[in-house]
Amino acid sequence: MTNNQNTTFDAIVIGAGSIGTPTAYYLAKSGLKVLVLESVPSVGQGSNKRAIGGIRATHSDPAKIALCLRSIEIFSSFKEEFGDDIEWDRCGYAFVAYREREEQTLKSLLLTQKSFGLNIDWYDGKEFREIIPDLNPEDLVGGTFSPDDGSASPLLTNHAYYTHAMELGVEFHFCEPIREIEVENGKISAVITDDNCYTAGIVVNCAGAWASEIGKLAGIDLPVKPDSHEAAITEPVARFLGPMVVDIRPAPGSTNYYFYQHITGQIIFCITPDPNAWGFDTRETSSFLPMVSQRMIEVMPRLKNIRVRRTWRGLYPMTPDGFPIFGWAPGVSNFLLGVGLCGQGFMLGPSGGELLARLAQGVPTENDQMILQYVSPDRKFVGQELLK
Ligand SMILES: Cc1cc2nc3c(=O)[nH]c(=O)nc-3n(C[C@H](O)[C@H](O)[C@H](O)COP(=O)(O)OP(=O)(O)OC[C@H]3O[C@@H](n4cnc5c(N)ncnc54)[C@H](O)[C@@H]3O)c2cc1C
Repeated sequence: MTNNQNTTFDAIVIGAGSIGTPTAYYLAKSGLKVLVLESVPSVGQGSNKRAIGGIRATHSDPAKIALCLRSIEIFSSFKEEFGDDIEWDRCGYAFVAYREREEQTLKSLLLTQKSFGLNIDWYDGKEFREIIPDLNPEDLVGGTFSPDDGSASPLLTNHAYYTHAMELGVEFHFCEPIREIEVENGKISAVITDDNCYTAGIVVNCAGAWASEIGKLAGIDLPVKPDSHEAAITEPVARFLGPMVVDIRPAPGSTNYYFYQHITGQIIFCITPDPNAWGFDTRETSSFLPMVSQRMIEVMPRLKNIRVRRTWRGLYPMTPDGFPIFGWAPGVSNFLLGVGLCGQGFMLGPSGGELLARLAQGVPTENDQMILQYVSPDRKFVGQELLK
């Protein structure tokens, strides 16, 4: 151990990923002295860089709608607020319906979505093809379109938060995984790495797919499991597609899939495997590409001539109900959790970071209290997110 460094902080954030880096920034902005401990050599290298950059407030529950509406405010004004280009594109999200079943699901969600201020509507097949002219018209019933959703670069965003957090004095220690956490009288008294033993008033678990391992070090069970998902990117072509297209129809081997055209021309896409692929294995499979491309070409035949350039696989930190976990850990009074962000951690990062900073300061708003009812660590985990 080297003890020549400063080892006492107001807050220690574990993990510099989609949620950890913005959280460190907002904690420092609220006046705290912050240390971030990260096991790999730089920021955003865990699940963050595997995300395809989709950002939507189009969810099925009030908490994620509220959080993501706030995130969209942050993403969309990032350039003005921070000066960084994070490739924000207000491209919108389009959930397609090719059967009555999906039409009913999407229409039934509209009521909740609209009641929470979402700019979203249902369009019939003909109207929907005015928004996305290249959709296969056969059996197309229609879909919902939310024009204010969009996309941005997870790596640029994370790096921008990192730079601004450093400007506020946050210390980042890379290649320094947490090995032990000491708990005394229901409180974390020390966070131990191979290099040092640190103390802080608050410790924030932002360790993504590894969050339950960090939880165990502090003696608590967190229902967060790694669930692997694959994605791919094509060569760039002239822009012809506006929104992120999401097809929620299940098919053999998959539940849903989604794709969009990046501002630089590439089509980027993902599929949700069925059954889930639990575990930390991030080796690509040979089944992903044939499965997803067949489904995509079915709904958009024009895609059949575009060449795929690269595939990759990463981890969703999944919870049993598909909702994130934000709040104080039961039984360990200074342990804050920003974990279990499932397939939406990039979009939840900015608003989640703000929320965690308000909790750390002890100043949650009325809106935060509403959100915490859905995402708190001591909920029963019996619900089910419908647009995972
Ligand atoms: C294929 C794919 C597509 C996706 N697309 C989207 C999308 O379009 N939009 C979206 O919002 N989300 C998307 N996601 C989900 C998103 O990537 C995750 O929800 C998000 O990155 C999780 O953020 P996190 O900060 O919890 O975890 P991470 O970003 O993984 O950060 C956790 C960090 O903790 C560090 N760590 C772990 N253990 C330790 C330790 N012992 N000590 C110190 N540090 C530690 C890790 O190295 C890592 O850097 C996608 C995911 C995948 C795989």
